[in-house]
Amino acid sequence: VNVGRIALYLLDTDNEMNSEFDRPITHQLYGGDWENRLKQEILLGIGGMLTLKKLGIKKDIYHCNEGHAALINVQRICDYVAEGLTYDQAIELVRASSLYTVHTPVPAGHDYFDEGLFGKYMGGYPSKMGISWDDLMDLGRNNPGDKNERFCMSVFACNTSQEVNGVSWLHGKVSQEMFASIWKGYFPEESHVGYVTNGVHFPTWSATEWKHLYASHFDENFWYDQSNPKIWEAIYNVSDEEIWKTRMVMKNKLIDYVRKQYRESWLKNQGDPSRIVSLLDKINPNALMIGFGRRFATYKRAHLLFTDLERLSKIVNNPDYPVQFLFTGKAHPHDGAGQGLIKRIIEISRRPEFLGKIIFLENYDMQLARRLVSGVDIWLNTPTRPLEASGTSGEKALMNGVLNFSVLDGWWLEGYREGAGWALTEKRTYQNQEHQDQLDAATIYSILEQEILPLYYARNKKGYSEGWVKTIKNSIARIAPHYTMKRQLDDYFSKFYNKQAERFKTLAANGYAKAKEIAAWKEEVAAKWDSIEVVSSEMTEDLMKGSIESGKEYTITYVIDEKGLNDAVGLELVTTYMAHDGQQHVYSVEPFEVVKKEGNLYTFRVKHKLENAGSFKVSYRMFPKNADLPHRQDFCYVRWFI
Ligand SMILES: *Cc1c(COP(=O)(O)O)cnc(C)c1O
Repeated sequence: VNVGRIALYLLDTDNEMNSEFDRPITHQLYGGDWENRLKQEILLGIGGMLTLKKLGIKKDIYHCNEGHAALINVQRICDYVAEGLTYDQAIELVRASSLYTVHTPVPAGHDYFDEGLFGKYMGGYPSKMGISWDDLMDLGRNNPGDKNERFCMSVFACNTSQEVNGVSWLHGKVSQEMFASIWKGYFPEESHVGYVTNGVHFPTWSATEWKHLYASHFDENFWYDQSNPKIWEAIYNVSDEEIWKTRMVMKNKLIDYVRKQYRESWLKNQGDPSRIVSLLDKINPNALMIGFGRRFATYKRAHLLFTDLERLSKIVNNPDYPVQFLFTGKAHPHDGAGQGLIKRIIEISRRPEFLGKIIFLENYDMQLARRLVSGVDIWLNTPTRPLEASGTSGEKALMNGVLNFSVLDGWWLEGYREGAGWALTEKRTYQNQEHQDQLDAATIYSILEQEILPLYYARNKKGYSEGWVKTIKNSIARIAPHYTMKRQLDDYFSKFYNKQAERFKTLAANGYAKAKEIAAWKEEVAAKWDSIEVVSSEMTEDLMKGSIESGKEYTITYVIDEKGLNDAVGLELVTTYMAHDGQQHVYSVEPFEVVKKEGNLYTFRVKHKLENAGSFKVSYRMFPKNADLPHRQDFCYVRWFI
């Protein structure tokens, strides 16, 4: 399939040349049992690589989107080994050219396979990769050697990819924690796991009317330079009337769409035609319209608004400030709780006090999404923090002058600017989720009552609120440019693709010379690591106990026998402090200098002075040192002293 200028290859097993057992593998997305799931992932990963090979497509970078596709790296290792490389050499090349993007901290988003099941299909691969079965299993385990651990696709992706990223700044942090146990010896905040915040494809998600408005007021380069904030500032030169008129056009389009699209099916399925007709008539373009559309995964908390029905009823039935909610979304077919939520919202929407005020729209799809994110006044998002890795629908709303009202989670934690939308704090007040939900719901009600509705209804003589239009302009000028797909891709290139492609080329040049050199060096270090010895150390008494006085300068010396390794050891002083979360965190890391070398004995020295007072702890960390490695987690041998 050609998607724009991009060729997309879709793998389908339903072909008459296939056996009756293989034909249904691709019948259902997320369907079937674990065995079918594994088959799908083998098809995607290994089959995907074989497909590219058949097509003669070879790339510098393989970007594994979610762990589901991670078996591409099994096939890629097999291919290098078939060329005559060892596993250790092959993995250098595969890692250098692999980027893994994780998309969720929700456990159901990460696949684990039992060893028996995994072995049934993957048992033949270790010999082609040049490793043992246990080695392959260990690549998918947090604790190599722990036979009780299943094979985790996400862990395997981490272990076979040089770089890993989450999809927002906060999700990057959450992923550093989530994957911390893979790279023992480092603190989560030291992890190489990074982030690229998701964006949305501007040409797809901004309505034609807005595209015209932008084209007539923005720089002619806008289309090619969509993420340039300077260009978007021209929105401040557009008249309030034009912005308001465009918003009203989009709102009326949404209302027409809902009336047309739902009239028939509601008349057919919900009985009482007069109720349906009055409901459709009640949709009022002059009311503040709030949209909520998402998958009904429970962490998205679609129920939050309905926590206090009495208060909600007062809000929606205030004759001075009419407000309407449009809800839509789908639940995963196996997610009973999500299905239950939809049912409950539909029930509530049929109560007399909510009729025509809260409307549930079935069959959330891209078409409805397009109408909603351009037609409503406010886009609401209320996830349980910090589980919304990014969220994208609010970004779609931005491009259409729709304002966001959301929990500071995912992209909105970065995107929110005062005077350009509304936010619920990211801080958790209660451990108990039910209490937190109640507090969050109460906050939503009061922000609606005290800020949003009064601003929206502060209408001038021309019939619109100047404050509201100003908020729209702020949102477009100050937030929208940062959430386009253009900016997202620019980030992937500058943070990952370009650097990795360059390093991969260096490793692969001259018959993989550099990859072979690094592999040999790692093998040697690994073989000697445990025998490396601290011969002597010099420091004061209090430092020996790990404590340190502020303002005092210390000199610390270590002599280390590298056992024949050639300057392969790095040593650093790590100062940590106890944070509010009850965990030690890194305060500073200072490298020792090699000041003397005598045979195998290396003398390391550091001068250290702590300026701040407080309760700090000092320790020393030894690691393999090689400027050719991309980061520490690439070769995660660590020894702590003290
Ligand atoms: C954008 C979109 C989504 C994803 O929205 P999130 O805010 O990321 O949850 C889901 N379904 C449809 C139809 C969409 O258009």
